[in-house]
Amino acid sequence: MTQSRRDFLNTGVALWATALIPSISIAAGPPELQESDPIAIALGYKKDASTVDTTKYPKRAGAGGATQFCNNCALYSAGENGLGGCTAIPGKQVAGLGWCNAWIPMS
Ligand code: SF4
Repeated sequence: MTQSRRDFLNTGVALWATALIPSISIAAGPPELQESDPIAIALGYKKDASTVDTTKYPKRAGAGGATQFCNNCALYSAGENGLGGCTAIPGKQVAGLGWCNAWIPMS
């Protein structure tokens, strides 16, 4: 293969990859909420509900509290890959198995 043909193919692959990246981002939806995000800290959000400090958040203590997850919160709407939307945290996705102190049961 000549150098110019190799360069042409490499450029084509790079352009294709560049064009593909935005479509992947759109398909993935909003970014996942990070526990370090100020709103996550304010709400005591943990993406793994089993790691919630129940001394600080007694709402999730005991047998009843242990059943609380984002995926059974009234503010959650399921998405893809175990993530979903939360009306309390617009523009971010939360983990279905997460939890925060704003959890409310579905009616
Ligand atoms: S309000 Fe509900 S869905 Fe939103 S982060 Fe808290 S527990 Fe999860």
